[in-house]
Amino acid sequence: MTMFAQFFGATREVTGSFHVIHTDKSRILLDCGLFQGRRKEAEAKNRALPVDPTILSNCVLSHAHLDHSGRIPMLCKGGFVGQVFTTTTTADACAYLLKDSAKIQENDAAYLNYKIVRNFLGGVTEGGPKMSDAKSREVKALLKSSEARLNEDIIARFQEQHHLERINPLYSIEDVETCLPCFSGFAYRQPFAVAEDVTCTFYDAGHILGSAMVLITVKGSKGHKNILFSGDVGRFDRPIVCDPTLDFAEEHRDIELMIMESTYGDRLHDDGDGDLKTMLKQVLDETFARGGSVIIPAFAYGRTQELIYFLHELYMENAVRRVPIYIDSPLATRITQVFERHPENFDSDTRQEFLKNGVDPFAFEELHFVESVEESMAINREQKSHIVIAGSGMCEGGRVLHHLRHKIHDDKHTILIVGYMGKNTFGHLLQEKGAAYEKSGRQGQAPMVRFYNKEYPLQAHVVTLGGFSAHGDYEELLRLMRGSNLHVKKIALVHGEEEQIFPFQKRLQDLGYSVTVPRQGESVVIEE
Ligand SMILES: [Zn+2]
Repeated sequence: MTMFAQFFGATREVTGSFHVIHTDKSRILLDCGLFQGRRKEAEAKNRALPVDPTILSNCVLSHAHLDHSGRIPMLCKGGFVGQVFTTTTTADACAYLLKDSAKIQENDAAYLNYKIVRNFLGGVTEGGPKMSDAKSREVKALLKSSEARLNEDIIARFQEQHHLERINPLYSIEDVETCLPCFSGFAYRQPFAVAEDVTCTFYDAGHILGSAMVLITVKGSKGHKNILFSGDVGRFDRPIVCDPTLDFAEEHRDIELMIMESTYGDRLHDDGDGDLKTMLKQVLDETFARGGSVIIPAFAYGRTQELIYFLHELYMENAVRRVPIYIDSPLATRITQVFERHPENFDSDTRQEFLKNGVDPFAFEELHFVESVEESMAINREQKSHIVIAGSGMCEGGRVLHHLRHKIHDDKHTILIVGYMGKNTFGHLLQEKGAAYEKSGRQGQAPMVRFYNKEYPLQAHVVTLGGFSAHGDYEELLRLMRGSNLHVKKIALVHGEEEQIFPFQKRLQDLGYSVTVPRQGESVVIEE
């Protein structure tokens, strides 16, 4: 009998979660996530799956975030015939998230193909066209029928004729539709079979709604062995979602190997000077007193619903002016509906405060879900104070940009940052420049920022509220180890950058644990 875990993604980094449990009889894939980050690097890592999908028995998915789920359509495309086991909420949400991911990839690929042809015609590419300037201008004009509309057929034909590089999306919306029937949803704490010799039980990870710690039990020659995959671990005392599980069923407490995340292995959350709701109220009061509006770039899954929840509370308490709130992201709207369909996963506070009184936390008079582009544009003509929550979360694209375009130059408005802004993103630039200007006492010229091919003065106030993170910090991760009834023999750390993962390894070793930090492709033996 040999049993081992092999690590192919989120090794010493935070994206591309992909681990395989090998037993004598089966191979279970844990997560099948996308690598995210700089386009070229991520693209190269995502292009090929690290194992042949046809050798996998089944897949178990910890939660819906794309860095855990985003390559599942490639599994099915590659001949995988198993099922994807996850929680009912995650299965429901993946239908929207994966289609959205396919759409973004299709759009990105179309734009890159356009650029390849345009550069070729413009003489930027080596071995450029053997045609007159006038002819090349004429062809260039054919590539786009308007500023926002590419003529994809013409671009593709031109690429073929001239043997130019062609970019294809990792998968299409049709590929997503083909793979969705593979998903099976289960409730927490209910064991189910995932292979002949393997059962699985989900425990709430408290990270996002539907997120799970995955408990795998293998029937080996020397009895049962438990493997616990933490997935992403959330925070304690957050709204809507439950706390990370500390109480495991008796037969699941002895863990042979724990595969554990370490995103905040060396950081503690700075929750600021007060609770989030109070700080949110302060930002709203100040902005409305100036006659301004608040733009909040936010992720569709989790952050948006947390904001709605706090705003709903503030409105019920009449603690702030009840201005209209626009959720301007079709994806966030769909995900909010997923929340409404799964109240069984809400924490006890949410049940107590809302459900018991027959109130839907995600529906109230001032809350509007914006669908069409026209409705979205109409918000910009609104003179009275309002709140817009829009994607993308890091301001790299999406509808939030056109709200910024209309409001960024006016100091009565506020851009409220409630999420992590990755390095090199436009959101990060706004956050940094805004903070520096604020620190200078808003002296002199406002900093300039460039987007939509134009320079804009960053006059709007930029305020960051910490404490909205969905990942537990190292104290919270250690609470899972010390405060739970688990007995863990060995730990493999994943899902953390090197500067987070090694200090966390040290912290766990100081508590007496045996801890390894596998590299890409490495294995950890569970039973010889
Ligand atoms: Zn996550």
